[in-house]
Amino acid sequence: MRFKFTDFHVHTTPWSVDVAEDGPTFEDYIKIAEEQQINVCFLDHFELYYVENDKTNPFYNGRIDDYLEEIDIWKETYDFILSGLEVEYYEDKEIKLMEFMDDYGKELDFIGGSIHEWIIGYPITTKDGLTKLLEKIPMKRIIDYYFELSKKMINSQIFKNVCHIDTIFRYINNNEFIPTNDCDISDDRVIDLGRLCIKNKMKVELNLSGLRFPINRTFPSMNVMKQLKKEGVEFFIGSDSHSLDYFKEKIPKVIESYNLLNPI
Ligand SMILES: [Zn+2]
Ligand SMILES: [Zn+2]
Repeated sequence: MRFKFTDFHVHTTPWSVDVAEDGPTFEDYIKIAEEQQINVCFLDHFELYYVENDKTNPFYNGRIDDYLEEIDIWKETYDFILSGLEVEYYEDKEIKLMEFMDDYGKELDFIGGSIHEWIIGYPITTKDGLTKLLEKIPMKRIIDYYFELSKKMINSQIFKNVCHIDTIFRYINNNEFIPTNDCDISDDRVIDLGRLCIKNKMKVELNLSGLRFPINRTFPSMNVMKQLKKEGVEFFIGSDSHSLDYFKEKIPKVIESYNLLNPI
């Protein structure tokens, strides 16, 4: 990698379905990254359920090979880009996920595991999805299940890196969907997940996406990050950009966060 710092988490069009059709392409990111002297890792969503069942999914029907080929072509010219994927964890697809990692783990520079949705159609990371889920399941159970599932993902050792470890709080927090009294939203819970990552030799993301939501904090929070850093967690930093403006705007924050993690 040419530069000192890396933004490990950006989404592109057409490869991530939650990026606008006229959103940023590989090339758009490359231009800015070169100007701003930062390495960039493309971490588009790879959700096995949709890859297998949804013909409109960008990775349907083996198109991951096109994704890799396209990035490889850019890599011939630019030595500051990484190929990656943000792979969704499903507890009932562990074997398939392991097979996927066997087949593609070495083809990609970086893979992060994450959880957005465990009941198909009810993602906790969109306002609509969470609203619908809250009509079915009490908030306490949703939060508890998120943490249970996160433990399963970490203990499965399928991934070496975990993205936005406490993203359940993207909307469930005092600025949006206010936690009910019976909910455990303590830092200790997140810290426990971090400790489990140490045990399973997983790196943890400091994800900057929360800064564009009313919660206005990183995932995990800076306090949790500092505690976990002390205990030995290794972090990588991702802006989780879905637009070029956000990517550009967050570069100073990415650099500042690396300096905070590794003071000179
Ligand atoms: Zn994500
Ligand atoms: Zn993402």
